[in-house]
Amino acid sequence: MLQNILIERKIYASEEHKMMQGMIQEFISNEIMDKLDDWEKEGMVGREIWKRAGDLGLLCIDMPEIYGGGGLDFSFNALFIEEFAKKGISGPGFSLHSDIVAPYLLKYGTEDQKQKYLPQMAKGEMITAIGMTEPNCGSDLKALRTTAEDKGDHYVVNGQKTFITNGFMCDMAIVAVKTNVNTDQEGVTLLIMESSMEGFSKGIPFKKIGMKSQDTCELFFDNVIVPKENRLGEERMGFKIMMEELARERLTVGIFAVATAEGAIEDTIAYTTEREAFKTQIAGFQNTQFKLVECTTQMQIHQAFLDRCIELLVDHKLTTETASMIKYSATDMCGSVVDECLQLFGGYGYMWDYPIARMYADNRVARIYAGTNEIMKIVIARGLFKDLLKR
Ligand SMILES: Cc1cc2nc3c(=O)[nH]c(=O)nc-3n(C[C@H](O)[C@H](O)[C@H](O)COP(=O)(O)OP(=O)(O)OC[C@H]3O[C@@H](n4cnc5c(N)ncnc54)[C@H](O)[C@@H]3O)c2cc1C
Repeated sequence: MLQNILIERKIYASEEHKMMQGMIQEFISNEIMDKLDDWEKEGMVGREIWKRAGDLGLLCIDMPEIYGGGGLDFSFNALFIEEFAKKGISGPGFSLHSDIVAPYLLKYGTEDQKQKYLPQMAKGEMITAIGMTEPNCGSDLKALRTTAEDKGDHYVVNGQKTFITNGFMCDMAIVAVKTNVNTDQEGVTLLIMESSMEGFSKGIPFKKIGMKSQDTCELFFDNVIVPKENRLGEERMGFKIMMEELARERLTVGIFAVATAEGAIEDTIAYTTEREAFKTQIAGFQNTQFKLVECTTQMQIHQAFLDRCIELLVDHKLTTETASMIKYSATDMCGSVVDECLQLFGGYGYMWDYPIARMYADNRVARIYAGTNEIMKIVIARGLFKDLLKR
């Protein structure tokens, strides 16, 4: 129904996009939907689904073929994220792996690092994570305390990370550490750490209010020996790299949010046309129609901006301010759309069996992770007032 009135999306208009969309939808309905309950009970997805996604070419879609990727552009990754979001599926942390970790390696990795990790990642044989947040710092990343002591040909890493997506299942994580602590060379550096390294351990997955099948957990490092060849980029470049790459991460959160809102509206149109009260379809009440009109309008406005952001990313022109705008505004919009939609489901909207309940719980975090929405506003304000403020 919704498709009848939405603006046609040029970014997905090609035959290749349509074929890919069909394949993703089949994958979701045949191989994902009936596993959701089990994954939620387990607190994590199965390894086999990673391999299956890899076999189908759905991991690292925009990575060059020489490293085992699909060689397509980012709009195909975006399509993949959207199809999952529309169905309210947040379990497999595919996007973090394909859209965040893989680009770090591609952009800043040495040829040896790329050859070693990327093909396994594309096949789903290696699951990856990124460790920035610590118990004492999330927004204020420069305050991180995990240290890497220089021992000549290797570092010795000590510290802890928290809230790490794919943390429990990960075979490898890109970890932000402090090097040259207490010297004038102190700074944030990125290391590639394999979970098989001695002294690398994992907490049990957190019990969360949503995203229950995602294995978010703590990572602990106790005198972990990390060879120097595992450094990603130069020493003290870590913060700069993270800030540059966060634009893409924030866009992926925006993509998920807009598509979730679209899925929620579709489901609500279907439900309110079926359900009756006072001998009338719920959709027949003007309140229902006005609410869904408002939700659709908000979603459409964001989708138009989102498509432009996706194009900008494909052209390597997405700025950190623009990415922060779509992240905060789309996740705020998604929060209120899903809330309105849930209301129109009445009591059933509060029942876990209904995807709208899962969407409600799962999407709350979108305003918090990848930088909170308050931090997004700080980033945008910095651009607005660049060189104008006295301090
Ligand atoms: C499910 C989940 C998955 C996650 N996955 C990952 C992951 O894979 N890797 C990873 O590294 N991290 C991950 N995170 C961590 C996430 O990015 C952080 O939680 C987030 O950046 C916020 O940091 P914090 O929790 O320390 O909050 P804090 O920084 O303590 O912030 C608390 C509150 O203070 C506000 N605040 C802070 N500073 C300012 C300021 N200057 N001005 C105004 N308000 C401010 C914040 O907006 C927030 O509302 C995940 C978190 C969750 C919940």
